[in-house]
Amino acid sequence: MRYAVALLAALTLFGQSKNNDLGYTDTPMLPGLPYRVHDPARPHPAQIAAEPGAAPSDAIVLFNGRDLSQWTFKNDRTWKVDGGVLEVIPGAGDMTSKEKFGDLQLHLEFAAPVPVRNTSQNRGNSGIFLQGLYEIQVLDDWDNPTYADGQTGAIYGQWPPLAKPARKPGEWKVYDILFEAPRMEGDKLLKPAYVTVLLNGVLLHLHKEIMGPTVHRALAKYAAQPAEGPIVLQDHQQPVRYRNIWVRRIGNYDLPEKK
Ligand code: MG
Repeated sequence: MRYAVALLAALTLFGQSKNNDLGYTDTPMLPGLPYRVHDPARPHPAQIAAEPGAAPSDAIVLFNGRDLSQWTFKNDRTWKVDGGVLEVIPGAGDMTSKEKFGDLQLHLEFAAPVPVRNTSQNRGNSGIFLQGLYEIQVLDDWDNPTYADGQTGAIYGQWPPLAKPARKPGEWKVYDILFEAPRMEGDKLLKPAYVTVLLNGVLLHLHKEIMGPTVHRALAKYAAQPAEGPIVLQDHQQPVRYRNIWVRRIGNYDLPEKK
């Protein structure tokens, strides 16, 4: 008996030292998964380049500072591109990404117009419509009283942001948005949309449930929609500026690395 225990201990030790670097084959199975804890057979994500301040190498760059080739407009007028920056041309209409997305990570930077004109919702208003339906508000909220669910960072008409990291008009702000698209079956809602939003690194929403597509002075309500939709930037008649717009699709866990 003592011999058997010693042998088992020796085998366990051998097994551990043999498997330490790449994982373990003597660990419990994870519930509901085909993998063990520290499973050596579990796929790794592909390595990407991700320098601070730059789009990661697997991102879809929607605006690189030079052209609007990734976007469409309703009519012949487009927004202005100058010096690496995109500017809303009031009256040109919204700008719609050619590519459509479901779950996504979106990065973009924006600056409110100077000189300052108008007040409330008519000052530096634009917006990011996820799937063309769900607006994360863009507004000049520096010394500009407006309703709480209409300020920068609001899930417009639904939830004010948790914090207000305001900057002066003309100063750049950075949005990082994680969006989980709703799951629908026809017009039946299986799972609502959720969004996590950071502005200049400050958390504004943490996996917040969206009540439905954005509406003005009304209650949002889900309706049948495609699984994927475009990113739409809003022309709200004010020359808001944008730069560095990129998107990453949110993948699934445990997918084999593409060669
Ligand atoms: Mg807006």
